Amino acid sequence: MFIFGDGKDKKNVKTRELLDAKSAEANEERERNAFGLSILSKSVERMSCGMDVHTLCKTFLQMFIELTCAGIGVVLFEESGYLTVKEFKNCEENAMRRVNISTGAAFVKILKENKIPCTSEDLYKAPGFLEDGSFIDMRFYMDPQIFVPLMHKNELLGVVTLGGIADKSRVPEYMKLLQLLAAQMSFALVDERFSREREALNKQLDNLQEKKGADLQRLNKAFASLALLDTEKLKALTMNLVFEIVDVDKAVFFLRSEDEISLISVVLAGTPGVATKKIYFEIDNDFIEKLRLEKKPLFVDPSRLKETLESRKCNPETSDALVASGMTLFIPFISNERVLALLVLGPKRSGKEFTPLELELLNTISFQFAAAIDNAKLFEAGVIDGLSKAYTRRFFESKLEYEIAVGMHYRTRRALCLIMIDLDYFKQVNDTYGHQAGDEVLSEFAKIIAGIIRMSDIVARYGGEEFVVILPELDLESGGKIAERIRAAVASTVFLPNGPAFKITASFGVSAFPDYAKTKEDLISKADKALYKSKESGRNKVTLCSSL
Ligand code: GH3
Ligand code: MG
Ligand code: MG
Repeated sequence: MFIFGDGKDKKNVKTRELLDAKSAEANEERERNAFGLSILSKSVERMSCGMDVHTLCKTFLQMFIELTCAGIGVVLFEESGYLTVKEFKNCEENAMRRVNISTGAAFVKILKENKIPCTSEDLYKAPGFLEDGSFIDMRFYMDPQIFVPLMHKNELLGVVTLGGIADKSRVPEYMKLLQLLAAQMSFALVDERFSREREALNKQLDNLQEKKGADLQRLNKAFASLALLDTEKLKALTMNLVFEIVDVDKAVFFLRSEDEISLISVVLAGTPGVATKKIYFEIDNDFIEKLRLEKKPLFVDPSRLKETLESRKCNPETSDALVASGMTLFIPFISNERVLALLVLGPKRSGKEFTPLELELLNTISFQFAAAIDNAKLFEAGVIDGLSKAYTRRFFESKLEYEIAVGMHYRTRRALCLIMIDLDYFKQVNDTYGHQAGDEVLSEFAKIIAGIIRMSDIVARYGGEEFVVILPELDLESGGKIAERIRAAVASTVFLPNGPAFKITASFGVSAFPDYAKTKEDLISKADKALYKSKESGRNKVTLCSSL
């Protein structure tokens, strides 16, 4: 107990002052963190509400400004090799219109290479940044004190600059939050781009008949980007974001399996002992259930990990692997009360403990990515067949319509080939080896086809054990050769080598636009008839519709 004015113990008064100062500092830090977090969670809301680019830039710029108490802020976007101003605050409009910085400029290259926010002082220290005058121009226009690059993988989407910051001593504390906000803005931008292209795709499909050359090109691009919006992309993004927040070098990412039975490791970083082996948790495992109920990152002391996992009935392979890599932090990804993924991290490289802020950030990310995984799954459900991972019949029909529309409009008509495939005596596979084995064969079969066709070709599951392949720009004979290659590959494959190994065959029918069919229906019907002829004449055959 300290008594004020008690001259005898000056030292105690000093200590008390020191303690007060310390606790004031801690309070401030807590407040700052809470403030940063509230901004971040705002940005999470933004991500999910489908804003246009303009609103998106405006909103994120405002958040950057709030976070740093900056007086001036500018959002620059990369377009055809130049950075131009997309949004600004407290700058002169005419000057902003004139800003045109080549992405080849020395300081832009440094930002792109560094990937993370930096101060102008950091830039001054980087060798070669003044090689050209572009930085000087920029300083003149917008007094940048902080540069925040907006990155998507290795692509520079743009840069946010912040200036007029009164209290620069606080800047270092904000860097991590800035980085995270930048990652979210980049994600939102990319997401916006995808949804715009997807929307364009839907619109175009609605009125295919009126297509002109330019529209078709756009549509083509939209189809290409469909493939990007998947759980693969989300997985990579999650890992990037996590490694940006905490300096761990060991991580395992588990994703919920299609059959909803387990969480299976899909990404392993820095865990040599388990690198090649899949490890997993049963979804109804006690440990997973605990995470699901608590809904937040769980820290387990590495020395107690084995006991913790085993007392909760985790399988020994998984437990051993995680214990051997010294894993310590378990972060569940939960959406609609379901654990969709689980991120497990090793200790920090610095050996320090995870800070409350880091834990909060990881938690925030886990929730927003869980929602994104849910969305991606819904989207994939319409386009990708869950069992075979080939495209769905619905997607096939749209794509075929599109390809035919392209073929009609090209002055030199673009040919297109269609292959229909039906597995031979597939009922017997089910009857002999069971439905599960049959499913595995279907999945393996689709992989064989995918391995033979080109990237621009499409394989889709047409029905139970029937597949279709669209080969743009090929005529009947060339398409027939591809069918023959698939037939031979299937016939020589040993299916289920780890189970009841066996061989099967398939029958093929091939038709072609525009030489043998002018409409989608006709094209499908001719391929179907040719397939029927292959079946009739002994199976394991390719029939061209020219021979009908
Ligand atoms: P063939 O085509 O040579 O005339 O003989 P088949 O035995 O393959 O006959 P058919 O094409 O009429 O039968 C298709 C069978 O495929 C029926 C069904 O048991 C099986 N099948 C359909 N969809 C699935 C699936 O998703 N999984 C499994 N395992 N089997 C399926
Ligand atoms: Mg069939
Ligand atoms: Mg069949």
